[in-house]
Amino acid sequence: MGSRRSTKETSEAASDPASSVSKEKKSMLVEGYPVEGLSIGGQETCVIFPSLKIAFDIGRCPQRAISQDFLFISHGHMDHIGGLPMYVATRGLYSMKPPTIFVPRSIKEHVEKLFEVHRAMDQSELKHNLIGLNVGEEFQLRNDLKVRAFKTYHVVPSQGYVIYSFKRKLKAEFCGLSGDEIKKLRVSGVEITYPIATPEIAFTGDTMSDFVIDPDNADVLKARILVMESTFVDNAMPVQHARDYGHTHLSEIASYGDRFQNKAIILIHFSARYYREEIEAAIAKLPPSFAGRVFALSNGI
Ligand SMILES: [Zn+2]
Ligand SMILES: [Zn+2]
Repeated sequence: MGSRRSTKETSEAASDPASSVSKEKKSMLVEGYPVEGLSIGGQETCVIFPSLKIAFDIGRCPQRAISQDFLFISHGHMDHIGGLPMYVATRGLYSMKPPTIFVPRSIKEHVEKLFEVHRAMDQSELKHNLIGLNVGEEFQLRNDLKVRAFKTYHVVPSQGYVIYSFKRKLKAEFCGLSGDEIKKLRVSGVEITYPIATPEIAFTGDTMSDFVIDPDNADVLKARILVMESTFVDNAMPVQHARDYGHTHLSEIASYGDRFQNKAIILIHFSARYYREEIEAAIAKLPPSFAGRVFALSNGI
């Protein structure tokens, strides 16, 4: 498939006990980030960025998800949240630190009850930090990383997440100086830079394409990598069908083409009705503005 030409398969040796079951895993390299996981509409979705220790949705809890410290849940449908207790329990089993799990604020109490039920049956602690975020709210993950929840349009309460990295930029008043002068200032203790947040990765979860035209979601379309759903790809399933179920059709993505400023777009959540070849053929027909920057994640990397 032409649009996957820039994909490079890499091998990553397992380095933690949770992934010792299989010693070697393959990942897709996108804009410098290894990407792992799997996503099939209605079955399971879990998209992993191991270099950031981040997973988006948990699906049925694939083995590689267990090593990730941060988990972002987009909504309460089973194909996105089903493996959550397993994720927490397995981390406990391996004595890994309790994970930090983000959920839409509106489902936080249900998730708490879910863990109470499992604690009662399992008689284990199931330690984790559960954080409910409303659309627009932010949370600092690390010194150099924060997350912000954004609005998506599904049939149940849902949201996507943008991960920002902080980069340091030279203050405007020092821009005309030579390298030596800047060095001298820095050595003398002058603060010559300031931090700016750059949208790195955005993940939609399940949504209608309406999130694209939401003016509050500008950063989603600027993120270096956009992971978005594209449940339906052909004419046998019309756009209206996708909308009726709160999903996106690939033809809508094509029609919004010039709005996506992302360096890479990873399409996920394809319906199980499609063969890999059908998905690739549909992606190959996208307008030229998409060429070389669209990737498909389906039944496993
Ligand atoms: Zn789904
Ligand atoms: Zn859903």
